[in-house]
Amino acid sequence: MTVTDALARPLRDLRISVTDRCNFRCVYCMPREVFGRDYEFLERAELLTFEEIERLARIFVGDHGVSKIRLTGGEPLVRREVERLVEMLARIPGLGDLAMTTNGSALARKARALGDAGLRRITVSLDSLDNEVFAAVNDVGFPVERVLAGIEAAAAAGLGPIKINMVVKRGVNEDSVVSMARYFRGSGHIVRFIEYMDVGHSNGWRMDEVVPAAEIVAMIGAEMPLEPVAPNYPGEVVERWRYGDGIGEIGVIASVTRPFCGGCTRARLSAEGKLFTCLFAVAGHDLRALLRSGASDAEISAAIGGIWRMREDRYSELRTAATAGLPKVEMSYIGG
Ligand code: SF4
Repeated sequence: MTVTDALARPLRDLRISVTDRCNFRCVYCMPREVFGRDYEFLERAELLTFEEIERLARIFVGDHGVSKIRLTGGEPLVRREVERLVEMLARIPGLGDLAMTTNGSALARKARALGDAGLRRITVSLDSLDNEVFAAVNDVGFPVERVLAGIEAAAAAGLGPIKINMVVKRGVNEDSVVSMARYFRGSGHIVRFIEYMDVGHSNGWRMDEVVPAAEIVAMIGAEMPLEPVAPNYPGEVVERWRYGDGIGEIGVIASVTRPFCGGCTRARLSAEGKLFTCLFAVAGHDLRALLRSGASDAEISAAIGGIWRMREDRYSELRTAATAGLPKVEMSYIGG
């Protein structure tokens, strides 16, 4: 049975954050000034156990029409034994797709185990091929070649075609856009260029640091002509563009300049079991309290249905300079 929200949008995608920790400090997500030594991350006891995550996932899939689960973080591969969770989720009847978004830092080591556990697809974040630029973005000096090795390992493990996410921030990495497109063109992997967003309340977002999707497409198209392609399915976040000569495609995610809230079918679960109905939400709904107070599956299911039916979120359509300052939940806490 599919539940729909107050804007008639069904619940199809569940993004599950398995940790709020990450080994990178990307400037647009987890700036070091905020997420420094003294930052209080969630304690282990506060995290949902794999069994609790699996129980909730079964209810979302079985009762509310979720067909796709994406594992996120922070960085999901810093959570120990995450392959075991993948295995548990991959067994859920009716789950059509199981994916993960990672910064790729541990992928060369873990790709095979993730594939064997039942992961279907993987998305890797990579914000430049230039080591200096990439090091400036991730702010831990992590080298490009190790992420590229992870992408190769994931492809070899059958997790392809790999999606590669690049967040484009003016003054930081816009000069890397064309080289990223050129490098992955014809590889079968798909680069998605993401407009820099006012996620959370720590990245100091400004509109003049956003490189609009139209500009990104024009930059690439000047060298490698592009033509628009229809979405793979209704509500798909990414705008697809294929190369005129047919050698592959790219995507752009234009949350700021071309919002797509009308087709948004995504819910997010934080690592401590709070349900969020929008990436830019200020507050979530505590499902862990229900899990740990002996609520039945039916009671938890009713709570989830009730939350979704009340949902009216469409932040990106309503975004103003004023809303950018709201105390929105951090992306590193609920996953992109
Ligand atoms: S801003 Fe919120 S409602 Fe709009 S697409 Fe993003 S997550 Fe969905």
